[in-house]
Amino acid sequence: MEVPKFLLLLLFAATFAQSQERLQGMPSLRKGNSLKVEEETNVLVSPDGTFSSGFYKVGANASCYSIWFTNSANKTIVWMANRDKPVSKRGSKLTLHGSGNLVLTDALGTLVWSTNTISNEDTEVVLLDTGNLVLRNQAKRVIWQSFDSPTDTLLPTQPLTKNSSLVSMRSQGTYLSGFYNFKFDDNNVLFLIYNGPQLSSVYWPRIIPSVFESGRNPYNSSRVAILDVAGQFISSDNMQFNASDYGVGPKRRLTVDYDGILRLYSLHESTGLWKLSWLPDSVDACRVQGLCGEYGICTYKPQPTCTCPSGFSLNDPSDWSKGCSPPFNLTQLTQDTSKLDFLELPYTDYYGYDMATYNRGISFEACRNSCLMHSSCLGFGYALDGIGECFPKSLLLNGYRMSNVKSIIHVKIPKGFLNPGAVQTRLETHDLNCSAAKFVVSTDLETEKGNGNQYMKYLIGFLSSFGLIEAIGISLTWWFVFRKKARDEMMNMGYMALAINAVGFKHFTYAELKKATNDFKQEIGKGGFGTVYKGVLDGDRVVAVKRLEGIVQGDAEFWAEVSVIGNINHRNLVKLWGFCAENEHKLLVYEYLENGSLDKLLFSDVELGLEQRYNIALGTAKGLSYLHEECLEWVLHCDVKPQNILLDDHLEPKVADFGMSKLFKVNIDDAGIGFSRVRGTRGYMAPEWMVDLKIDAKADVYSYGIVLLELLSGKSASILLSAFAQEYTEHNQLVQCVTEKIRVEGLKEVIDPRLYHKFNKKKLERLMKVALLCVQEDRSARPAMSKVVELLLENDEGRVDDEEEDHIISM
Ligand code: ATP
Repeated sequence: MEVPKFLLLLLFAATFAQSQERLQGMPSLRKGNSLKVEEETNVLVSPDGTFSSGFYKVGANASCYSIWFTNSANKTIVWMANRDKPVSKRGSKLTLHGSGNLVLTDALGTLVWSTNTISNEDTEVVLLDTGNLVLRNQAKRVIWQSFDSPTDTLLPTQPLTKNSSLVSMRSQGTYLSGFYNFKFDDNNVLFLIYNGPQLSSVYWPRIIPSVFESGRNPYNSSRVAILDVAGQFISSDNMQFNASDYGVGPKRRLTVDYDGILRLYSLHESTGLWKLSWLPDSVDACRVQGLCGEYGICTYKPQPTCTCPSGFSLNDPSDWSKGCSPPFNLTQLTQDTSKLDFLELPYTDYYGYDMATYNRGISFEACRNSCLMHSSCLGFGYALDGIGECFPKSLLLNGYRMSNVKSIIHVKIPKGFLNPGAVQTRLETHDLNCSAAKFVVSTDLETEKGNGNQYMKYLIGFLSSFGLIEAIGISLTWWFVFRKKARDEMMNMGYMALAINAVGFKHFTYAELKKATNDFKQEIGKGGFGTVYKGVLDGDRVVAVKRLEGIVQGDAEFWAEVSVIGNINHRNLVKLWGFCAENEHKLLVYEYLENGSLDKLLFSDVELGLEQRYNIALGTAKGLSYLHEECLEWVLHCDVKPQNILLDDHLEPKVADFGMSKLFKVNIDDAGIGFSRVRGTRGYMAPEWMVDLKIDAKADVYSYGIVLLELLSGKSASILLSAFAQEYTEHNQLVQCVTEKIRVEGLKEVIDPRLYHKFNKKKLERLMKVALLCVQEDRSARPAMSKVVELLLENDEGRVDDEEEDHIISM
């Protein structure tokens, strides 16, 4: 449906008239007067004090004439007259000439910028409460206004028209014009485009779905968009959204940031920091064109970050778009294909620059050879979905790495540059911590300088904004309101559906789960987060339904957080199939694991052989390693224990309860009661928890080590530790205690008597060695989970088989 032009004009007229009324008493620059760069206090201030305008220092000796939010921390700039031509800190001035021209000159009197206006009338320059710097005559007729030439920011009531566009900064902290533009295209549609030196490419709205499918209308050629004072953005192409804190009050700005993302911010008055209140649904920062430059790869950790393939170096850490450089020159090598090799980058793609049109049914070898033979081919993408898609590439640009990317990129390198057939599974080591998880669950949307999981926040902001759609003007007829609301509700549902489809799991109604669990009849366990019930879906699918208690998040935020967990897939992690969020009802639906949790088997009469225990140790390590180092969200578990290791029919382990800290804000923040349930379980918690050190992945490694000791000893952590505590000292000397006991009394004294009759000593010793490595007090000495997997796999080569029966010691 087309947004009527009259509505936009009406909104604009209303808000603009409002600002016009407040012009009285505003400080102004009159004819013949100047604002001098040296006089820092010589600034124009809007009547209500919201905005200031003056010279802003952009370098040691460089200034730009600017407008900023007076009360924002670090003076947030909303407009600049001369962003690409800064003036000297000495001798520069802004002068309103008698001719009616407002002129910026540098120290030598050279003209740097001007309004290009002529007026014989008595004119003045004033800064309005809207942030609009205007040159006007005595009758208050505007001769020139900054609102007509925005830089990277649109302010409430400032129209974006067919003649204006927002242009990002070049990089963080650089005010120079960058490469990302927000404007109307020739088809009357608002879009984001990367307009870099090498390429130009639209990245929002996406080509798929089409403009129509994304709700835009290319037939309204009026090309005008406006953000009103209540935080509603409305455009002639039907683009429409509300700030998540919709309503008159917060001061806002819509900015194309240096990373190419369009964001709506609201000012937090008391701190001067900006909260994010909206961003486009489908702008994925890692897909913003040109972000990481040549060879660069964008990953989320949890914010978009650019990294380089192994051995390549980042050209300019302050400007990612400059990409990465290889330490070799391929052109000298391409004649001799025997000297070439490929570096594999799984889950990675470089967008565009395909040398051949869409190729299918190509074998991997043929694809590889075609790239080897072509000197201009820098690498190729090959998908592992059996379709045989081959994409040889002449340029490796727009790289991104995501867990759902099916293709593997093969980057051409000289032979011997890396180990043969090198696969780079990790792009970099990651600093993880449980407090990072804490940040993720903050209900406050991200501040400009924050480091949290912004992208889920965007989703939250976006989802919540749709609950706030209201009638937009009293002059609208009832039928218009009715039609608009109907459409908004459809959009709301559409985007919710999109969010769910994107993460591939289901949104259940409470009634559905009530029915599936037979009114929550069969309890299978109870934990710190709530009770778990067995249920059956669609007549045959057995599920475990966890009914959460103490969730303080709203539905949208819960959805957003749950979708992060739902998007994590690994054979050693319990799969989240869906969720329910209906007011106070917050439930999670998991795959049901036939054999329940490890504690129930290990500490019961059931006999678990060494092979089975070993397999449980290995699978658990693989699941944790994936969480720590491979999956998209880099999750810390923070509560590794046998109760959270579930076993399927074949006793294959699956780690449960990961990501729970995302859902329980209150408990994480609760420092008063020692260590909350979110922060782990006594007996499994690493010593650093006790001294409240920053927690990182090594805390999970410690807990995992305790689980290994339990697997070996058959005793629960509490029994194990109290046994040692009696004999020796405190549990933080666990390694010494166990080692000493083994030294004095032998391994037999430590291991589970149920293993006595038959075990592979060598293998058992190795398992013990890994356990002791993991529970070291010095966390830097503990191995990463990926290393644990490696150690256990080495050990796995010594699997008990017929030839090794000799080593088996009968007791
Ligand atoms: P905490 O919540 O403190 O981590 P917990 O892990 O014991 O403790 P829950 O995750 O709520 O708590 O699980 C309780 C018990 O329910 C588990 O120990 C397990 O025995 C059982 N259980 C949980 N999820 C499943 C599942 N998907 N399949 C089978 N049994 C399950």
